[in-house]
Amino acid sequence: MSWVDELSFIGNQLCYWWFFMELNMLVSIFAFIFGAVIGSFLNVVILRLPSDNSSIAHPASHCPQCSTTLRWFDNIPLLSYAFLLGRCRYCKASILLQYPIVELLMALLSLAVYIRFDLTITAAGYLLFCAALLAIIWIDIYHQIIPDTISLPGIVLGFCFSLITPVLTWQDSLIGLVAGGGSLYLIALFYLLARKQDGMGGGDIKLLGMIGAFLGWQSLLFVVFFSSLTGAIVGIVCIIRQGSDTATRIPFGPFLSMAALVFLFFQEQIFYFFRLYMEGRLTF
Ligand SMILES: [Zn+2]
Repeated sequence: MSWVDELSFIGNQLCYWWFFMELNMLVSIFAFIFGAVIGSFLNVVILRLPSDNSSIAHPASHCPQCSTTLRWFDNIPLLSYAFLLGRCRYCKASILLQYPIVELLMALLSLAVYIRFDLTITAAGYLLFCAALLAIIWIDIYHQIIPDTISLPGIVLGFCFSLITPVLTWQDSLIGLVAGGGSLYLIALFYLLARKQDGMGGGDIKLLGMIGAFLGWQSLLFVVFFSSLTGAIVGIVCIIRQGSDTATRIPFGPFLSMAALVFLFFQEQIFYFFRLYMEGRLTF
């Protein structure tokens, strides 16, 4: 095939693709782009929120290296990074890999929320929840802190969300937020008494409260189990690699957040395996 044939073949394929693209597909693409835009905003939140003397809105986005204020076309989620090949247009300093990763992750989460919950109020609520968790994951990794400015409003919003969504009763949400905050508080207290040191930050307690508020108390057993398991695995790997058993503080927020995301999208499967296990039909 010559390149002309090849090009017209591709053109035809594109026509077919466009022709058969249903509304669903269009909305999926929109959900992806919308997510990337939210991710772009999250990047600003992640970098600016933990420091006290900076605001989210000011100053306008600029290159941290050369301080040139970025034009709108330098700020297009995902695309700008790709076109600029990861470097500042003006001074060629490399752009943090965090930018495209957060944008891509949020785009995928937004798409997943749409696929699972369609265009509903539930989808809107869980999109907000996903954005909060994604921001918390990065902020906790960078700054070893879970900002109250996200988790506390998150607890309130989660409860308000339960009042309007059909997938969660307000009782489940209320028990979830009390039990979530409370259970981790007890673990932290126990740890404090047993080891005489702070093993878990207060931020984790508020985060689990927020997760309980958004997902209901039914999620908590899995979230605590899964986050402890993944956290322990990563902790052991870190200890082996560093060759010492000093208590390196590994932020726990990312593991709690990831467990919450896994539960949000796979709760049927989780409950299915849990039932099999309880009935003794699943053995390890
Ligand atoms: Zn620059």
